[in-house]
Amino acid sequence: MTGGIGFAYLVTAVGFILALKGLSSPRTARQGNLIGAAGMALAFGYTLAVKGASHAILLVVALAIGVALGVPAARKVKMTAMPQMVALFNGVGGGAAALVALDDFSISAHSHLGSLWAVLFDVVIGAVSFSGSAIAFAKLQELMPGRPITYPAQQPVNAAIAAVIVVSAVATFFGGGALTLAIATLGSLVLGVAFVLPIGGADAPVVISLLNSFTGLAVAASGFVLSNTVLIVGGTLVGASGTILTRMMSQAMGRSLPNILFSAFGSASTTAAGKAGGEDRPVRTGSPEDIATMLSYAEQVMIVPGYGLAVAQAQHTIRELANALAQRGVRVIFAIHPVAGRMPGHMNVLLAEADVPYEQLKEMDEANSTMSLTDVALVVGANDVVNPAARDAKGSPIYGMPIISVDQAKAVVFLKRSMRPGFAGIDNELLYNPKTTLLFGDAKESLSKLVAAVKNT
Ligand code: NDP
Repeated sequence: MTGGIGFAYLVTAVGFILALKGLSSPRTARQGNLIGAAGMALAFGYTLAVKGASHAILLVVALAIGVALGVPAARKVKMTAMPQMVALFNGVGGGAAALVALDDFSISAHSHLGSLWAVLFDVVIGAVSFSGSAIAFAKLQELMPGRPITYPAQQPVNAAIAAVIVVSAVATFFGGGALTLAIATLGSLVLGVAFVLPIGGADAPVVISLLNSFTGLAVAASGFVLSNTVLIVGGTLVGASGTILTRMMSQAMGRSLPNILFSAFGSASTTAAGKAGGEDRPVRTGSPEDIATMLSYAEQVMIVPGYGLAVAQAQHTIRELANALAQRGVRVIFAIHPVAGRMPGHMNVLLAEADVPYEQLKEMDEANSTMSLTDVALVVGANDVVNPAARDAKGSPIYGMPIISVDQAKAVVFLKRSMRPGFAGIDNELLYNPKTTLLFGDAKESLSKLVAAVKNT
């Protein structure tokens, strides 16, 4: 590697690290993203200038196609569709890593065995990541049923496919040719599909994060094959951050990774654990005016947003409500649960889009510490993340998931459309609690009514 390109790659690697640092907080995320993109542009530019002159036209055409597809897609994507967008981009990354490795196979097989293991690793992991992400995308985009798809002996079948992949990869390493490699590649594509089928749509973000870490490893392996430092550094960073994110998401849901991957959570048997309806039990409903009065005369209101806020695209209306209350001297806090919504940071991004000041956002532990001083907890389109069963009911499927303890506020208001449960499919006792008031309807409409009523109070 020449000194110039080595230095450019070093700057790129530092850029990637700074980008990750920036992405760790909503306040600096935008800047982090730009630094990462600049690092990538630098690496691409140098590679093109120094190594790629002979393929310059092809590379520029590929770049133009990527930009033409990626920029409008990223600009137009709805916040609720972000997880499937990540799945799509991740899958494409895995597929690209596998294709690069397949292309390198003949060179490595005949030159040095040291890189052949990396080629095989790259093909297998890249192909699993590609097809697995494609299924996760299809589930989240509702192109196929989001519920877990299970069949008898599913895990033994998956283990058998994995065994075929290992055997054919080992055979390829020890002199097998295109046929054994083709079996390993096809087997990996099948395994990616089979692995994600039994995972419920709402658990798909965790799987996407896991597959993302796989893609990172595949890219790092590509770096070994191509002796490219920036691929090794970039791939390792993606692999490590994807692994940490997967772990954090599992912890925030109070479930182990094997439980998420293998228990078919959200299938008929787990949803049956809670009676979804409970319609025959009385609940207390309130008019927008009643609730506006409660909110307006409170000292502290804690707003707990959830998935339904994203569905209703009600982020701007909720900010209007927070502003109207703040103008009346009410202290307004947004309590953010780490897995509220359908992807990590979902609520932070949504509220940032609506210019809710970061100072108003409190993480779960901080929010819980001030819950007893809260006059009204206003739960907007959230359910599981405030369900006391996660704390108190040992047999519950969500037992152990840390929650925002809104039941410890003086009064609780839920804005939702019906008595239907949340993603976990279990009833929420808090809806029947005498201190709870419900306002049924789409979150955006209900919030608009509340804004008008608060202004008239
Ligand atoms: P939930 O899925 O528990 O609840 C969402 C609630 O929103 C429902 O009760 C629904 O009730 C209501 N809702 C839906 N649409 C609207 C609308 N338009 N207007 C008003 N209300 C609406 O969401 P939470 O955010 O509380 O919990 C997230 C769940 O997702 C957790 O179980 C978590 O483990 C899981 N998950 C989260 C991940 C993440 O990274 N964030 C990743 C993987 C899983 P109704 O239909 O009656 O309106």
